[in-house]
Amino acid sequence: MKLFTIGPLEMDPQTLELGNKPLPYFRNSEFSIIMLEIEQIILEFANAEPNSKLAVLTGSGSSAMEAAVINCFDKKDKLLIINGGTFSARFVQICTTYSIPFQTIDLEFGEQLTSSHFDEYQNQGFTGLLVNIHETSTGQLYPIDIISHFCKSNNILLVVDAISSFLADDYDMKTRGIDLTIFSSQKSLALPPGLSYVIANPRALNKIYSNSPHTVYLDLKTHFDDMKRGQTPNTPAVGIILQMREKLERIQKLGVENYISKTADLASFFRNELQQTSFKLPNYTLSNALTPLICQSNNAPDIYNRALTEISVTLTPTGGILSNKLLRVGHIGNLKKSDYHPLIELLLKF
Ligand SMILES: *Cc1c(COP(=O)(O)O)cnc(C)c1O
Repeated sequence: MKLFTIGPLEMDPQTLELGNKPLPYFRNSEFSIIMLEIEQIILEFANAEPNSKLAVLTGSGSSAMEAAVINCFDKKDKLLIINGGTFSARFVQICTTYSIPFQTIDLEFGEQLTSSHFDEYQNQGFTGLLVNIHETSTGQLYPIDIISHFCKSNNILLVVDAISSFLADDYDMKTRGIDLTIFSSQKSLALPPGLSYVIANPRALNKIYSNSPHTVYLDLKTHFDDMKRGQTPNTPAVGIILQMREKLERIQKLGVENYISKTADLASFFRNELQQTSFKLPNYTLSNALTPLICQSNNAPDIYNRALTEISVTLTPTGGILSNKLLRVGHIGNLKKSDYHPLIELLLKF
């Protein structure tokens, strides 16, 4: 079975091997050293400003989304959410649940986010912007420059869910003025699901330390405080942390640009091969992490099933209103070009 999914993914042999090992105890300096090494490498990969901090949460990506929102914002804030798919719907749900005021820029399927979408929101007293920079449900990679420009000119805290984009697309917190980044273990890092992360720059940290969210487990202040000595407030997913350290060291050796270009190469190879098929790509800008296939005959579930039974490939189905129309093919994880050959042959039959 090959996974062309978006997480969990095909894992590397080194990651799998570590998953077989007994776990060490973690309330000691040996484990703290590993945590601090992880923080340093991640801050470097994200090009985070000096004095930025990493919080390591044990929970899926949504826990970091929830933590970020409720630690940075409260009822006195006013947020703008780029709303173009099921992951932005999660931000909407979090803000609704915690009564944090918000408005949305709603995008229809196929609609590219442009600077004109922001015109009516200038100087309206917004204090934060939430975006899933790669809206994984559609494959659209939003234009960070436009978003960043709007946030800078309105002095708005920019919170980016980069869960499926970090280490798959270029990402630079300092240059783009990103105040807070969310990502998780099961996407481009190709680790098991279970860890999620928040990177906060000094501006975001300031906001976080001045708030008192109604939460214990997701209180980021306790995470950042403990992380000063390489620890977490609760028992973390120790095994995934060890797998993460090993993976980060390998990416560092390879060079983060080369790690990203491997995914970019797979994406452009696959998109190029698709031209011989009847499948179309959407017109908006795409992330390297996955290719959304528009199924003109609304037969996405049929193709998903045939890929599973005929070539042992798991594609990524799409939920909700796009379930018949859109299939997604992942390019992250331990994949190579030849893995795509059987899939392209199958797609040629439609
Ligand atoms: C995968 C993903 C998440 C996290 O989902 P979980 O199931 O909670 O891990 C959040 N946002 C985006 C954009 C994602 O791709």
